[in-house]
Amino acid sequence: MVDYRGFAARGDEVGTLGPHADGTGAGWGWSGGGGACRMNEAEELATDGRHLKIARPWRSIHGGSRRLASGGTVTRFVTAPAAADRQQASLPPGHPAIIGATTLFPKSVVDAADTPRLLVSGHNSAKLGRVVLKGPWRGMPIFLLTLVERETCPATCGLWAECFGNAMPLARRHRYSPELVARLEEELRAKSIEHRRTGFVVRLHNLGDFPDAGYAKRWLHWMAQMPQIHAFGYTAHRASTEVGRIINTAGAMFPDRWAIRFSVPPDDDPQPRQATTIWRQAEGPNVPEGIVCPAQTHKTAACATCGLCWAPAAASKRIVFIGHGMRRRHA
Ligand code: SF4
Repeated sequence: MVDYRGFAARGDEVGTLGPHADGTGAGWGWSGGGGACRMNEAEELATDGRHLKIARPWRSIHGGSRRLASGGTVTRFVTAPAAADRQQASLPPGHPAIIGATTLFPKSVVDAADTPRLLVSGHNSAKLGRVVLKGPWRGMPIFLLTLVERETCPATCGLWAECFGNAMPLARRHRYSPELVARLEEELRAKSIEHRRTGFVVRLHNLGDFPDAGYAKRWLHWMAQMPQIHAFGYTAHRASTEVGRIINTAGAMFPDRWAIRFSVPPDDDPQPRQATTIWRQAEGPNVPEGIVCPAQTHKTAACATCGLCWAPAAASKRIVFIGHGMRRRHA
């Protein structure tokens, strides 16, 4: 388990994160809007920025209000702007996490039998949000599934060294195994019953990727079995691979519920359902490579208030992310 050490504080900026020297992560307290932080909440932190502030529920941030009509917040956290510095974000070639094809934070990896849940509310992610507030998936709660970066990713990934997991010491990563697949099916079935009227969204994969074709086929099966599932995310598999073909099959069978985009180099031939990463600050909301993710430029609060990645009208548009990750090199 990750070693979390919580503390309570008050003020505008109640917490700033930084990894422990041993790389296991750091904890902080939660005050305002919800009372004191409970340890099980801290354990579910899933962040994609290294320096985070706890979002105050009564404040708008860069024009993207995080306040819900219900009085809650879209997300609990706010990310720092993307640094767009590829050199800083990269692990050096000989780094053990590169050679061993695994995470920089091995203590954050848990087995399916030891985790309180695989599907974690998007409220715990600065980038996702709790409930979709816009578009055809409006009203659906968002959950994220976090696997182990590099261990489950194709070695052909163009961001192998710069994976933004390098800056996520607090994410609880789940080890891929047959037990994980069985547990995931259980949780998906339970969520399908709980949210049978609205449906629900799963972000695949907050970290990691489809580890193999068998796993991708399970998702195809679950999509067919459980019409409440709506999935979105990004994969480093190429569309021409076996896994890529299964992902495309799911997209053809369930175009309104399956929005997995292929992460491609910026100069790749344009195809529907793609995403790419650039290593510069965007010149505007649209760049030659595509549409810049508006959450990264603070035009919107989170995926919950955006929905571009799964919007049918944007299926043929490439989503562009500004590269981010570590702000200093690990030894
Ligand atoms: S474009 Fe919108 S939906 Fe896609 S990742 Fe950015 S905020 Fe989320």
